[in-house]
Amino acid sequence: MGCLDEKIEQITAEAAALGCYTEKGAVLKDYTTFKIGGRCDLLVKLNSEESFVKLIPLAEKLGVPYYIFGKGSNLIVDSDGITGVVFVSGKDYAELKLIDDTTILCTAGASLSTLCKFALKNELTGLEFAYGIPGSLGGAVFMNAGAYGGEMKDVMVSVKAMDITGEITEYDAGQLDFSYRHSRFTESGEIILSAVIKLEKGDKEQIKAQMDDLMERRCSKQPLEYPSAGSTFKRPEGSYASLLIEQCGLKGVHVGDAEVSTKHSGFVINKGNADFSQLMELIEIVKNTVKEKTGYVLECEPLIISDKEM
Ligand SMILES: Cc1cc2nc3c(=O)[nH]c(=O)nc-3n(C[C@H](O)[C@H](O)[C@H](O)COP(=O)(O)OP(=O)(O)OC[C@H]3O[C@@H](n4cnc5c(N)ncnc54)[C@H](O)[C@@H]3O)c2cc1C
Repeated sequence: MGCLDEKIEQITAEAAALGCYTEKGAVLKDYTTFKIGGRCDLLVKLNSEESFVKLIPLAEKLGVPYYIFGKGSNLIVDSDGITGVVFVSGKDYAELKLIDDTTILCTAGASLSTLCKFALKNELTGLEFAYGIPGSLGGAVFMNAGAYGGEMKDVMVSVKAMDITGEITEYDAGQLDFSYRHSRFTESGEIILSAVIKLEKGDKEQIKAQMDDLMERRCSKQPLEYPSAGSTFKRPEGSYASLLIEQCGLKGVHVGDAEVSTKHSGFVINKGNADFSQLMELIEIVKNTVKEKTGYVLECEPLIISDKEM
Protein backbone atom coordinates (compact mmCIF):
# COMPACT_ATOMS: atom_id res chain seq x y z
CA MET A 1 0.00 0.00 0.00
CA GLY A 2 1.49 3.34 -1.06
CA CYS A 3 2.06 6.14 1.37
CA LEU A 4 -0.83 8.28 0.03
CA ASP A 5 -3.15 5.27 0.22
CA GLU A 6 -2.31 4.78 3.90
CA LYS A 7 -3.00 8.43 4.64
CA ILE A 8 -6.29 8.30 2.73
CA GLU A 9 -7.23 5.23 4.80
CA GLN A 10 -6.46 7.16 7.99
CA ILE A 11 -8.63 10.14 6.96
CA THR A 12 -11.43 7.80 5.83
CA ALA A 13 -11.42 6.01 9.19
CA GLU A 14 -11.38 9.28 11.14
CA ALA A 15 -14.23 10.70 8.98
CA ALA A 16 -16.30 7.52 9.37
CA ALA A 17 -15.81 7.68 13.15
CA LEU A 18 -17.30 11.19 13.04
CA GLY A 19 -20.30 9.91 11.07
CA CYS A 20 -19.32 11.66 7.82
CA TYR A 21 -20.22 10.23 4.41
CA THR A 22 -17.04 9.12 2.63
CA GLU A 23 -16.48 8.01 -0.95
CA LYS A 24 -13.19 6.79 -2.37
CA GLY A 25 -12.63 7.65 -6.03
CA ALA A 26 -15.67 9.96 -6.13
CA VAL A 27 -16.42 11.40 -9.56
CA LEU A 28 -16.27 15.17 -9.15
CA LYS A 29 -18.45 16.10 -12.09
CA ASP A 30 -21.29 14.99 -9.81
CA TYR A 31 -20.21 17.71 -7.37
CA THR A 32 -19.89 20.67 -9.74
CA THR A 33 -22.56 22.63 -11.60
CA PHE A 34 -20.36 22.52 -14.76
CA LYS A 35 -20.70 18.71 -14.70
CA ILE A 36 -16.98 18.45 -15.47
CA GLY A 37 -14.39 16.77 -13.24
CA GLY A 38 -12.67 13.42 -12.81
CA ARG A 39 -12.05 11.40 -9.68
CA CYS A 40 -10.42 12.41 -6.41
CA ASP A 41 -8.83 9.94 -3.99
CA LEU A 42 -11.44 10.57 -1.32
CA LEU A 43 -14.53 12.71 -0.87
CA VAL A 44 -15.79 13.51 2.62
CA LYS A 45 -19.03 15.30 3.40
CA LEU A 46 -18.35 17.35 6.51
CA ASN A 47 -21.24 17.17 8.96
CA SER A 48 -20.30 19.23 12.04
CA GLU A 49 -17.89 21.85 13.30
CA GLU A 50 -16.00 18.98 14.93
CA SER A 51 -15.56 17.27 11.56
CA PHE A 52 -14.01 20.45 10.11
CA VAL A 53 -11.75 20.89 13.14
CA LYS A 54 -10.55 17.29 13.19
CA LEU A 55 -10.36 16.29 9.52
CA ILE A 56 -8.94 19.33 7.72
CA PRO A 57 -5.96 19.73 10.10
CA LEU A 58 -5.42 15.96 9.81
CA ALA A 59 -5.13 16.18 6.01
CA GLU A 60 -2.82 19.17 6.49
CA LYS A 61 -0.66 17.31 9.02
CA LEU A 62 -0.41 14.24 6.79
CA GLY A 63 0.55 16.42 3.81
CA VAL A 64 -2.41 15.19 1.74
CA PRO A 65 -3.67 17.78 -0.77
CA TYR A 66 -7.25 18.80 -0.03
CA TYR A 67 -9.94 21.09 -1.37
CA ILE A 68 -13.07 22.57 0.16
CA PHE A 69 -16.16 22.36 -2.05
CA GLY A 70 -19.43 24.04 -1.29
CA LYS A 71 -22.05 23.47 -3.98
CA GLY A 72 -19.35 23.41 -6.67
CA SER A 73 -21.02 26.26 -8.55
CA ASN A 74 -17.88 28.33 -9.00
CA LEU A 75 -15.38 25.60 -9.81
CA ILE A 76 -13.68 24.18 -12.88
CA VAL A 77 -12.29 20.74 -12.05
CA ASP A 78 -9.83 18.74 -14.16
CA SER A 79 -11.43 15.82 -16.01
CA ASP A 80 -8.23 13.81 -15.41
CA GLY A 81 -9.01 13.86 -11.71
CA ILE A 82 -7.16 15.36 -8.78
CA THR A 83 -4.93 13.98 -6.07
CA GLY A 84 -6.14 14.15 -2.52
CA VAL A 85 -9.30 14.77 -0.55
CA VAL A 86 -12.35 16.84 -1.40
CA PHE A 87 -14.13 18.03 1.73
CA VAL A 88 -17.70 18.97 0.87
CA SER A 89 -19.34 21.62 3.00
CA GLY A 90 -22.91 21.06 1.93
CA LYS A 91 -26.29 19.97 3.19
CA ASP A 92 -24.81 17.73 5.90
CA TYR A 93 -23.64 20.95 7.56
CA ALA A 94 -26.59 23.24 6.95
CA GLU A 95 -28.23 24.86 9.96
CA LEU A 96 -30.20 28.07 10.16
CA LYS A 97 -31.23 29.76 13.37
CA LEU A 98 -32.77 33.11 14.26
CA ILE A 99 -30.72 34.65 17.05
CA ASP A 100 -32.96 37.69 17.38
CA ASP A 101 -35.80 39.22 15.34
CA THR A 102 -33.58 40.22 12.43
CA THR A 103 -30.37 38.22 12.81
CA ILE A 104 -29.67 34.76 11.37
CA LEU A 105 -26.91 32.34 12.28
CA CYS A 106 -26.13 30.13 9.30
CA THR A 107 -23.61 27.31 8.93
CA ALA A 108 -21.35 27.11 5.89
CA GLY A 109 -23.10 24.29 4.06
CA ALA A 110 -26.55 25.89 3.91
CA SER A 111 -27.59 26.80 0.38
CA LEU A 112 -28.29 30.43 -0.41
CA SER A 113 -31.73 29.48 -1.70
CA THR A 114 -32.61 27.83 1.63
CA LEU A 115 -31.25 30.85 3.47
CA CYS A 116 -33.33 33.21 1.30
CA LYS A 117 -36.47 31.14 1.88
CA PHE A 118 -35.75 31.17 5.63
CA ALA A 119 -35.45 34.97 5.51
CA LEU A 120 -38.75 35.17 3.59
CA LYS A 121 -40.51 32.91 6.11
CA ASN A 122 -39.35 35.22 8.88
CA GLU A 123 -40.35 38.35 6.93
CA LEU A 124 -36.76 39.57 6.63
CA THR A 125 -35.55 41.70 3.76
CA GLY A 126 -32.02 42.31 2.45
CA LEU A 127 -31.08 38.94 0.97
CA GLU A 128 -33.37 38.91 -2.06
CA PHE A 129 -30.37 39.54 -4.36
CA ALA A 130 -28.92 36.14 -3.42
CA TYR A 131 -31.98 34.12 -4.40
CA GLY A 132 -31.00 32.17 -7.49
CA ILE A 133 -27.24 32.14 -6.81
CA PRO A 134 -26.72 28.37 -6.65
CA GLY A 135 -24.01 28.36 -3.97
CA SER A 136 -23.57 27.59 -0.29
CA LEU A 137 -23.12 30.21 2.40
CA GLY A 138 -19.41 29.27 2.70
CA GLY A 139 -18.80 29.66 -1.04
CA ALA A 140 -20.78 32.91 -1.09
CA VAL A 141 -18.77 34.43 1.76
CA PHE A 142 -15.50 33.20 0.23
CA MET A 143 -16.31 34.93 -3.10
CA ASN A 144 -18.42 37.78 -1.69
CA ALA A 145 -21.12 36.60 -4.07
CA GLY A 146 -23.43 39.27 -5.37
CA ALA A 147 -26.07 40.12 -7.93
CA TYR A 148 -28.52 42.85 -8.88
CA GLY A 149 -26.80 45.50 -6.78
CA GLY A 150 -26.42 43.42 -3.60
CA GLU A 151 -23.52 41.40 -2.21
CA MET A 152 -22.84 39.25 0.85
CA LYS A 153 -20.81 42.12 2.32
CA ASP A 154 -24.05 44.12 2.77
CA VAL A 155 -25.61 41.68 5.23
CA MET A 156 -22.63 40.25 7.07
CA VAL A 157 -22.16 40.86 10.81
CA SER A 158 -19.45 38.30 11.51
CA VAL A 159 -17.92 35.08 10.26
CA LYS A 160 -16.59 32.19 12.30
CA ALA A 161 -13.62 30.61 10.59
CA MET A 162 -10.93 28.05 11.27
CA ASP A 163 -7.28 28.08 10.28
CA ILE A 164 -5.48 24.98 9.01
CA THR A 165 -4.46 24.02 12.55
CA GLY A 166 -8.11 23.98 13.64
CA GLU A 167 -7.93 27.22 15.62
CA ILE A 168 -11.23 29.11 15.45
CA THR A 169 -11.60 32.91 15.15
CA GLU A 170 -14.73 35.07 14.95
CA TYR A 171 -14.20 37.96 12.50
CA ASP A 172 -16.29 41.14 12.54
CA ALA A 173 -17.56 42.47 9.21
CA GLY A 174 -14.77 45.09 9.18
CA GLN A 175 -12.11 42.36 9.26
CA LEU A 176 -13.45 40.44 6.28
CA ASP A 177 -11.75 42.52 3.56
CA PHE A 178 -14.71 42.26 1.21
CA SER A 179 -14.50 43.68 -2.30
CA TYR A 180 -15.72 42.57 -5.73
CA ARG A 181 -15.65 38.73 -5.68
CA HIS A 182 -13.08 38.84 -2.90
CA SER A 183 -12.88 38.32 0.87
CA ARG A 184 -10.06 37.74 3.35
CA PHE A 185 -10.68 33.99 2.81
CA THR A 186 -9.70 34.21 -0.86
CA GLU A 187 -6.14 34.59 0.39
CA SER A 188 -5.97 33.36 3.97
CA GLY A 189 -6.65 29.65 3.42
CA GLU A 190 -9.00 29.74 6.43
CA ILE A 191 -12.19 27.69 6.33
CA ILE A 192 -15.58 29.34 6.89
CA LEU A 193 -17.67 27.55 9.51
CA SER A 194 -20.65 29.86 9.95
CA ALA A 195 -21.80 33.45 9.61
CA VAL A 196 -24.11 35.87 11.33
CA ILE A 197 -26.33 37.82 8.94
CA LYS A 198 -28.28 40.97 9.74
CA LEU A 199 -31.46 41.75 7.81
CA GLU A 200 -34.42 44.08 8.31
CA LYS A 201 -38.07 43.43 8.99
CA GLY A 202 -39.99 43.70 5.73
CA ASP A 203 -43.25 42.90 4.04
CA LYS A 204 -43.50 39.22 3.14
CA GLU A 205 -45.42 39.84 -0.10
CA GLN A 206 -42.88 42.43 -1.26
CA ILE A 207 -39.93 40.22 -0.39
CA LYS A 208 -41.46 37.32 -2.31
CA ALA A 209 -42.29 39.54 -5.29
CA GLN A 210 -38.68 40.76 -5.38
CA MET A 211 -37.30 37.20 -5.17
CA ASP A 212 -39.64 36.01 -7.93
CA ASP A 213 -38.78 38.98 -10.13
CA LEU A 214 -35.01 38.40 -9.80
CA MET A 215 -35.44 34.68 -10.47
CA GLU A 216 -37.49 35.43 -13.56
CA ARG A 217 -34.79 37.81 -14.81
CA ARG A 218 -32.19 35.05 -14.33
CA CYS A 219 -34.31 32.48 -16.16
CA SER A 220 -34.97 34.79 -19.09
CA LYS A 221 -31.37 36.04 -19.51
CA GLN A 222 -29.16 33.13 -18.39
CA PRO A 223 -28.69 29.74 -20.08
CA LEU A 224 -29.82 27.85 -16.99
CA GLU A 225 -30.83 24.86 -19.09
CA TYR A 226 -27.12 23.99 -19.50
CA PRO A 227 -24.43 23.21 -16.91
CA SER A 228 -22.08 26.13 -16.21
CA ALA A 229 -20.38 27.99 -13.37
CA GLY A 230 -22.36 31.18 -14.01
CA SER A 231 -20.34 34.15 -15.27
CA THR A 232 -17.08 32.71 -16.56
CA PHE A 233 -15.19 36.01 -16.35
CA LYS A 234 -14.98 38.70 -13.72
CA ARG A 235 -16.26 42.13 -14.64
CA PRO A 236 -13.24 44.09 -15.88
CA GLU A 237 -12.84 47.64 -14.60
CA GLY A 238 -14.72 49.97 -16.97
CA SER A 239 -16.68 47.40 -18.99
CA TYR A 240 -18.62 44.13 -18.89
CA ALA A 241 -17.19 40.77 -19.90
CA SER A 242 -20.38 39.75 -21.74
CA LEU A 243 -20.40 43.00 -23.75
CA LEU A 244 -16.74 42.64 -24.78
CA ILE A 245 -17.23 38.97 -25.71
CA GLU A 246 -20.26 39.82 -27.82
CA GLN A 247 -18.47 42.76 -29.50
CA CYS A 248 -15.66 40.37 -30.44
CA GLY A 249 -18.12 38.07 -32.21
CA LEU A 250 -17.47 35.19 -29.81
CA LYS A 251 -21.10 34.22 -29.11
CA GLY A 252 -21.61 30.56 -30.01
CA VAL A 253 -17.88 29.89 -30.46
CA HIS A 254 -17.14 26.41 -29.17
CA VAL A 255 -14.48 23.82 -28.56
CA GLY A 256 -16.21 20.45 -28.54
CA ASP A 257 -19.21 20.80 -26.25
CA ALA A 258 -17.78 23.82 -24.40
CA GLU A 259 -19.54 26.85 -25.87
CA VAL A 260 -19.86 30.58 -25.34
CA SER A 261 -23.61 30.75 -24.71
CA THR A 262 -25.66 32.37 -27.46
CA LYS A 263 -28.19 33.42 -24.80
CA HIS A 264 -25.68 35.18 -22.51
CA SER A 265 -22.16 35.65 -23.79
CA GLY A 266 -20.75 35.98 -20.25
CA PHE A 267 -21.49 32.30 -19.69
CA VAL A 268 -19.43 29.43 -21.05
CA ILE A 269 -21.69 26.38 -20.97
CA ASN A 270 -21.30 22.63 -21.18
CA LYS A 271 -23.61 21.52 -23.97
CA GLY A 272 -23.21 17.86 -23.13
CA ASN A 273 -19.84 16.18 -22.83
CA ALA A 274 -17.36 19.06 -22.60
CA ASP A 275 -14.17 18.19 -20.75
CA PHE A 276 -11.66 20.27 -18.85
CA SER A 277 -9.18 20.70 -21.72
CA GLN A 278 -11.92 21.86 -24.13
CA LEU A 279 -13.24 24.29 -21.55
CA MET A 280 -9.79 25.70 -20.80
CA GLU A 281 -9.00 25.99 -24.53
CA LEU A 282 -12.21 27.95 -25.11
CA ILE A 283 -11.50 30.21 -22.13
CA GLU A 284 -8.05 30.97 -23.59
CA ILE A 285 -9.56 31.73 -27.01
CA VAL A 286 -12.01 34.18 -25.41
CA LYS A 287 -9.34 35.87 -23.29
CA ASN A 288 -6.87 36.18 -26.19
CA THR A 289 -9.45 37.46 -28.67
CA VAL A 290 -10.85 40.03 -26.22
CA LYS A 291 -7.33 41.23 -25.37
CA GLU A 292 -6.30 41.50 -29.03
CA LYS A 293 -9.45 43.27 -30.17
CA THR A 294 -10.27 45.50 -27.18
CA GLY A 295 -7.20 45.63 -24.95
CA TYR A 296 -9.23 44.37 -21.95
CA VAL A 297 -7.73 41.54 -19.91
CA LEU A 298 -10.40 39.08 -18.77
CA GLU A 299 -9.89 37.07 -15.63
CA CYS A 300 -11.62 33.75 -15.00
CA GLU A 301 -14.11 33.94 -12.13
CA PRO A 302 -14.47 30.24 -11.23
CA LEU A 303 -11.58 28.61 -9.40
CA ILE A 304 -9.59 26.10 -11.43
CA ILE A 305 -8.73 22.87 -9.65
CA SER A 306 -6.12 20.69 -11.29
CA ASP A 307 -2.91 18.83 -10.42
CA LYS A 308 -1.35 20.37 -13.54
CA GLU A 309 0.48 23.68 -13.52
CA MET A 310 -2.01 26.15 -15.01
C1 LIG B 1 -26.13 29.47 -13.02
C2 LIG B 1 -25.19 30.18 -12.07
C3 LIG B 1 -25.45 31.49 -11.72
C4 LIG B 1 -24.59 32.17 -10.85
N1 LIG B 1 -24.87 33.45 -10.51
C5 LIG B 1 -24.05 34.10 -9.67
C6 LIG B 1 -24.33 35.43 -9.28
O1 LIG B 1 -25.31 36.04 -9.68
N2 LIG B 1 -23.46 36.06 -8.44
C7 LIG B 1 -22.35 35.43 -7.96
O2 LIG B 1 -21.61 36.03 -7.19
N3 LIG B 1 -22.06 34.16 -8.30
C8 LIG B 1 -22.89 33.48 -9.13
N4 LIG B 1 -22.59 32.20 -9.48
C9 LIG B 1 -21.35 31.58 -8.99
C10 LIG B 1 -21.49 30.82 -7.65
O3 LIG B 1 -22.81 30.32 -7.48
C11 LIG B 1 -21.12 31.67 -6.44
O4 LIG B 1 -19.79 32.15 -6.53
C12 LIG B 1 -21.28 30.89 -5.14
O5 LIG B 1 -21.13 31.76 -4.06
C13 LIG B 1 -20.27 29.75 -4.98
O6 LIG B 1 -20.66 28.96 -3.87
P1 LIG B 1 -20.38 27.40 -3.81
O7 LIG B 1 -20.87 26.89 -2.51
O8 LIG B 1 -20.89 26.71 -5.00
O9 LIG B 1 -18.80 27.39 -3.81
P2 LIG B 1 -17.83 26.40 -4.60
O10 LIG B 1 -17.97 26.64 -6.06
O11 LIG B 1 -18.01 25.01 -4.12
O12 LIG B 1 -16.43 26.97 -4.12
C14 LIG B 1 -16.01 28.25 -4.51
C15 LIG B 1 -14.80 28.64 -3.64
O13 LIG B 1 -15.26 28.80 -2.30
C16 LIG B 1 -14.48 28.01 -1.44
N5 LIG B 1 -15.32 27.55 -0.33
C17 LIG B 1 -16.53 26.95 -0.39
N6 LIG B 1 -16.97 26.72 0.87
C18 LIG B 1 -16.01 27.17 1.71
C19 LIG B 1 -15.86 27.20 3.13
N7 LIG B 1 -16.80 26.71 3.96
N8 LIG B 1 -14.72 27.74 3.64
C20 LIG B 1 -13.75 28.24 2.83
N9 LIG B 1 -13.83 28.22 1.50
C21 LIG B 1 -14.95 27.70 0.94
C22 LIG B 1 -14.01 26.83 -2.30
O14 LIG B 1 -12.85 26.22 -1.75
C23 LIG B 1 -13.73 27.54 -3.60
O15 LIG B 1 -12.45 28.14 -3.55
C24 LIG B 1 -23.44 31.49 -10.34
C25 LIG B 1 -23.19 30.16 -10.70
C26 LIG B 1 -24.06 29.50 -11.55
C27 LIG B 1 -23.79 28.08 -11.91
